[in-house]
Amino acid sequence: MAKLNIQTGTDNKILRTRSERIKKVDKKIIRLVDNMRETLLLENGLGLAAPQVGENIRVILARLNFDTPQEMVKPLINPEIILTSDETVVAEEGCLSLPDCYKPVERFKKIRVRFDDIRGEGHILELEDLNARIVQHEVDHLNGMLFIDRVDEDAMLVSEKGTGHPKGM
Ligand code: ZN
Repeated sequence: MAKLNIQTGTDNKILRTRSERIKKVDKKIIRLVDNMRETLLLENGLGLAAPQVGENIRVILARLNFDTPQEMVKPLINPEIILTSDETVVAEEGCLSLPDCYKPVERFKKIRVRFDDIRGEGHILELEDLNARIVQHEVDHLNGMLFIDRVDEDAMLVSEKGTGHPKGM
């Protein structure tokens, strides 16, 4: 496994390109997912999308159930958000591709996401709160979007004392 370089910058061409669907999960994709997993954990981030490591293909990793015994890094191939809640949540977000930038972003509280696993089998997951936020952030990356495009500067934020900045994704 190898740590991959992270693409950075709001005008970065790779980050601003819409990524292509994956037709078949081959060895190259599996190697990429392994390297992305290592990179995500070394960077101590919450999520990582392939364009952030220079590949314009539709694969993301989400660190679900962060800081609980059920924590896991889940790869999602060709993820599609197929249902969203009416309820939204505003929380501060960071991005590994935009170091030292933390802003409040409004996201759907709950989502339903459809994706393939690395064996090519389809799944549907219901996610909420931070898990849902991570997947929404990473799917935006696949569409050439960065979280600063969604920043709501006027949003009222009630931040908990001493929690510091969130982790990048
Ligand atoms: Zn990001």
